[in-house]
Amino acid sequence: MPHTEKKCSEGFHKIRICNNKINRVTVPKERDEKKVAVSEQLVQDVVKEVVARLKIDADPTGNKGVFADMDTAIAAAKQAQKKVQSMSMDQREKIISLIRKKTKENAEILARMGVQETGMGNVGHKILKHHLVAERTPGTEDITTTAWSGDRGLTLVEMGPFGVIGAITPCTNPSETIICNTIGMLAGGNTVVFNPHPAAIKTSIFAIHMMNEASAEAGGPEVIACTVEKPTLETSNIMMKHKDIALLVATGGPGVVTAVLSSGKRGIGAGAGNPPALVDETADIRKAAEDIVNGCTFDNNLPCIAEKEIVAVDSVADELMHYMINEQGCYRISREEQEKLTSVVLTPKGLNRKCVGRSAKALLAMIGIDVPDNIRCIVFEGEKEHPLISEELMMPVLGMVRAKDFDEAVEKAVWLEHGNRHSAHIHSKNVDNITKYAKAIDTAILVKNAPSYAALGFGGEGYCTFTIASRTGEGLTSASAFTKRRRCVMSDSLCIR
Ligand code: NAD
Repeated sequence: MPHTEKKCSEGFHKIRICNNKINRVTVPKERDEKKVAVSEQLVQDVVKEVVARLKIDADPTGNKGVFADMDTAIAAAKQAQKKVQSMSMDQREKIISLIRKKTKENAEILARMGVQETGMGNVGHKILKHHLVAERTPGTEDITTTAWSGDRGLTLVEMGPFGVIGAITPCTNPSETIICNTIGMLAGGNTVVFNPHPAAIKTSIFAIHMMNEASAEAGGPEVIACTVEKPTLETSNIMMKHKDIALLVATGGPGVVTAVLSSGKRGIGAGAGNPPALVDETADIRKAAEDIVNGCTFDNNLPCIAEKEIVAVDSVADELMHYMINEQGCYRISREEQEKLTSVVLTPKGLNRKCVGRSAKALLAMIGIDVPDNIRCIVFEGEKEHPLISEELMMPVLGMVRAKDFDEAVEKAVWLEHGNRHSAHIHSKNVDNITKYAKAIDTAILVKNAPSYAALGFGGEGYCTFTIASRTGEGLTSASAFTKRRRCVMSDSLCIR
């Protein structure tokens, strides 16, 4: 129905032509004012974008993707995304190959920087994590097409880019997450703006510089990943509200995931876990002790998937503890020492950040206990409600909860996972028990008879990711998770059967 609009003193006049009759409709002034308010917002947005573009033009690479403010970073990512979208899959893959190569070459630098800047983790393990990201993060091969061909033609569903993705990253795996996210997001045809954890900003910027260098060297845009010099909650809020951010990806604790999911935009939420390792009477107990301690101590327990506590059936609990102490470098703490450690680790303000990702030796030193260097994990037995057991600590402290039988063990493990639906592990040779546990705990990851890191493709099959979207259901994210489905229909043609 065609219509024209004319402004007058009472407000707006709309002339509508309906069934060849001319109708004059007066739109009241308030609506007129609302319209003015909306256009002011539009003017503000345009001014913001023009200013941002001027800043990018003044320094086209913004120090290789690092900008003074979030609006400029987003504008740069938007410009670059247009170039990425016009590139072939082969060209995207060339950039990704170079990112993989540079990540391996810089693995040790990134690992050392991460440990030095955050005070968390273990250099050797962080080197392995960077190699894992470089080698096993899916690239463009993850972008696939589904086709239907028949009498009425050809229909395709393709995976298209969202555009510019806003990603918030943790301090526990800073560069690992940033590199892994960028590979997947770029493979999907997107560019990305990061709001990294402030405690890991130097390491995050190093990784962003490295990937932008790879893009430029491979003939891609100067910036495929951007960030700001000083990420804060304010810059994160600007990102969450920005009109040019099409998808938000949050990797971190419950606060950031809730913030992203309340933003009104599409969000992928990779949140906290508290993975229990269940051991039943059919397990190879000696191997279970080794696997659990290896998984728990990997990068000083920083990965969100790592074993955080044990639930063992009564008949094997003592044997398990014996192997952990006598063969796996575990130090058993007394009740009094448990209390001391609790008061150091869990302060009235919450988890003491100075304890996160620290070695067992360093944690024990904090409560006045000196142990040899081969001690890699702190163990004790307690009830499931013990704060060192029920809280997600992210340090090599393993409390063991005893259960009278398998059913009670499942019940306790499900309670300890707190409904995060994140990760859980089991050591058992009874397929029925494994199935029962898997159904009851309902997590994105369930590792059987191996250390937790097998779930990331380290000593297990499958690809690697450091963004496990437990809250929103994508599970282990890869390039396809960062795309939107688009249907392309050709009616009555192109079916050549
Ligand atoms: P964190 O929640 O303190 O910080 C993560 C990021 O979110 C940081 O960039 C931080 O600045 C930001 N942030 C925090 N609260 C925010 C808010 N209200 N609004 C906007 N941004 C906010 O987490 P962390 O200590 O860096 O990492 C450890 C936590 O992350 C653990 O709970 C761990 O389980 C979880 N994690 C989950 C995954 C996963 O894939 N599911 C991966 C790594 C870490």
